[in-house]
Amino acid sequence: MRTKGTQATGEFSLIDLFLSHFPRARVPVGPGDDCAVLAPSKGAQCITTDAVVEDVHFKRAWFSPEDIGHKALAVNLSDLASMGAIPRWFVCALALPRDFPRRELAGIARGMSALAREHTIALVGGNFTSARELSITLTVAGELLPGTAPITRAGGRPGDVLYISGTLGDARLGLQQLLSGVRRSTAILRQKRPVPRVGLGRLAARFVSAGLDVSDGLAQDLGHLCTASRVSAELELERLPLSRAVRAALGTEGALAGGEDYELLLAVPPERTPAFERACLRGEVPVTRIGRLTRGEPGHIRDASGRSLRLPAGFDHFRGGRRIDRSGREG
Ligand SMILES: [Mg+2]
Repeated sequence: MRTKGTQATGEFSLIDLFLSHFPRARVPVGPGDDCAVLAPSKGAQCITTDAVVEDVHFKRAWFSPEDIGHKALAVNLSDLASMGAIPRWFVCALALPRDFPRRELAGIARGMSALAREHTIALVGGNFTSARELSITLTVAGELLPGTAPITRAGGRPGDVLYISGTLGDARLGLQQLLSGVRRSTAILRQKRPVPRVGLGRLAARFVSAGLDVSDGLAQDLGHLCTASRVSAELELERLPLSRAVRAALGTEGALAGGEDYELLLAVPPERTPAFERACLRGEVPVTRIGRLTRGEPGHIRDASGRSLRLPAGFDHFRGGRRIDRSGREG
């Protein structure tokens, strides 16, 4: 890891403090040199990057440092999961306000490293810089098992059955509760600590024709899958897996707009659905059949009665109409 612009705070001690929370990376060259050097196996590599930014994706008043560290890695692991990749390495670029408390930095490292250990992904390098707002940008890499194709958005065919993991809308409800002054609930935990579906992604790679992780709401992300696969879709709205709290507070429409669920939406050819469902049962991953892909105008989505679904705009987490200003008011 290298540092720019934080000389006053003792950059090397900050780096040492951060790294001390992670296991030593077992790679040819790890943190401390100008580049990390990796030794990939035979599988193809999947690489992605994503950032979490103060007052856009989290507020420091509401998220503990551990929550922030967890979420920064979780959103990236979710993208690896959606491709069916096995997490391997990541680099971390931290932008810290001047005089950022060392104990908060340690908290971020603890939250991140706990999730990294769970998924055996190694921190191999990064960068520190100073900035007005806290932000964490991760670049993560994973590998596909040799001979396994990645799960993409583009392989869906008419007739494929649609599945969603877990439940929808909880993270959005959690954000609404935070905005209204609630500080603790199951939904708030889903907002702060999303669980990337890495195991399901690996398992699903053997069965699915297409898939992606739901980060912008089911409606919007299903639209992405349909457009890429050049198909339309039929959703059985009454089958959507919603918690009782989400059903009461957001309803089906709100849950469809969702956002930050980080569940996987998967399309499975009908002849593979029995084996897929058995594998999910064995792996103890909850998945629900919610509809199917159909012929028709690409990206068009109907409900089971054939009514065209006017798709609510995807939920753009703390951005746009819901950006949170520094006083905590919804902007
Ligand atoms: Mg994604």
